[in-house]
Amino acid sequence: MVKKMSQIICKRVSVAGYLLSVFCFLFLCGCANPLHKDTFIIAGTYLEVISKDSRASQIVHEEFKRMEKIFNFYDKDSELSRLNNTYNAPVKVSSELIEVLKLSKQLNEMTDGAFDVSCGSLYNFWKEFIKKGNIKELPSKETINGILENCGMDKIKINTDLTVTIERKGLKVDLGAIAKGYMVDKAATALKNKGISSALINAGGDIYCLGTNNKNPWRVGIKNPSEIQGIIENEDLVDEAVTTSGNYEQFFDFEGRRYSHIIDPRTGFPVTSGVISVSVVSKNCTTADGLATAFFVDGIEGLNKFLSKYPSTMRIFMVTQEGKQKRVHIFR
Ligand code: ADP
Ligand code: MG
Repeated sequence: MVKKMSQIICKRVSVAGYLLSVFCFLFLCGCANPLHKDTFIIAGTYLEVISKDSRASQIVHEEFKRMEKIFNFYDKDSELSRLNNTYNAPVKVSSELIEVLKLSKQLNEMTDGAFDVSCGSLYNFWKEFIKKGNIKELPSKETINGILENCGMDKIKINTDLTVTIERKGLKVDLGAIAKGYMVDKAATALKNKGISSALINAGGDIYCLGTNNKNPWRVGIKNPSEIQGIIENEDLVDEAVTTSGNYEQFFDFEGRRYSHIIDPRTGFPVTSGVISVSVVSKNCTTADGLATAFFVDGIEGLNKFLSKYPSTMRIFMVTQEGKQKRVHIFR
């Protein structure tokens, strides 16, 4: 998530076909009831809400505004920043932050450390490195090992009294790989609580399809980033989420290799697994968000290992590149 922006652009549509996002295409069929579509910029991303209920976008936007104050890594007044500025002192936090931290710990264990929210200092280091550009050499192993000392999920203690203690000075929690999915899930719950049963929420490619779209499933095309107009497959979604992690937005090329903004926390270096993108379809947008990042880190081999250990109903679409050869792998 990047700095707070609260520009609001509102539009209304009742269209037959509409291009949704960088990652996914959404096909809206001709409907009797017009669909309202509103777009916001929030939490460093765009937020799109489509529903025939005109109240939906405001409810989702309000929920995002509320949660941005909890999860924004770059806002020094957010709850997360307050926590990140402490050391060895229990900090009272919201139940939402506790919930995401607990799930993050679980995902960390399930992915053998590929998913790790305790390495904020490391992720920040690489983001600055990519931003600087003009790369002549990679940072040394010593530099990276030094930063890695400030990581470790075991150094984030979740206490029983809704407090969290960071037990390592310099450790920064970064929820950038999971919070967007969580916000989407919470916004969907907020809609349901207000009696709205049909909507699509898209936060920068993390999508949740609530109910049906005029009795039909919401149809989302999983984009193949290795082809300009390519779609891997159209997915019909009802009460399901789809999220994507990819290296085609933030990356750098060095000595013939593409390095991603997603980092392998075990080596401390950007992922070079040959994965271009991973899309995960699941009932839950939070888990789908976290796992898309983890699968990106560990590639096909890690994904196979995960699925043999944790059989699941998720559908996973992975695009890989080896030399000039690009391949699409579908797991369902
Ligand atoms: P997106 O950029 O679309 O949000 P992700 O959901 O994959 O993509 O999140 C990437 C962000 O998560 C990075 O910008 C960084 O802040 C953080 N991150 C990077 N590597 C990891 C990792 N291995 N585990 C957890 N978080 C990560
Ligand atoms: Mg993610």
